[in-house]
Amino acid sequence: MRREGGYAVIFGPLGIQKECSTFSCAHCNCVVHIKPKCNLDDLGGNCRLCDKLICPKCVDLGCTPFEKKLEQAEARDRWRRAYG
Ligand SMILES: [Zn+2]
Ligand SMILES: [Zn+2]
Repeated sequence: MRREGGYAVIFGPLGIQKECSTFSCAHCNCVVHIKPKCNLDDLGGNCRLCDKLICPKCVDLGCTPFEKKLEQAEARDRWRRAYG
C-alpha cells in the first residue's frame, strides 16, 4: 500500500478492493482519500496562496505549507542552540 500520491487500495466490507485516488495535503502533509463522485472542494481543495491541494482541516487555516513549518521548526532549533 502506497501512502503518498497516486492510489491507495482500500478493502471494503466484502473484501472488495477499491482503488481511490489520494493526495498529500501541502500544509500538514496528511494523506487525503478522494472518494469517487466526491467533489474536490468538499475534501478541502486548492490553496489559493500556494496553489496546492490541501485537506479540509487546513482550509480554514491560513496558508502554512508543511515545508515552511519545517523551516520554522529548524530556525527555532537553531536559535535555541545558539542561545541555550
Ligand atoms: Zn492539511
Ligand atoms: Zn497554501
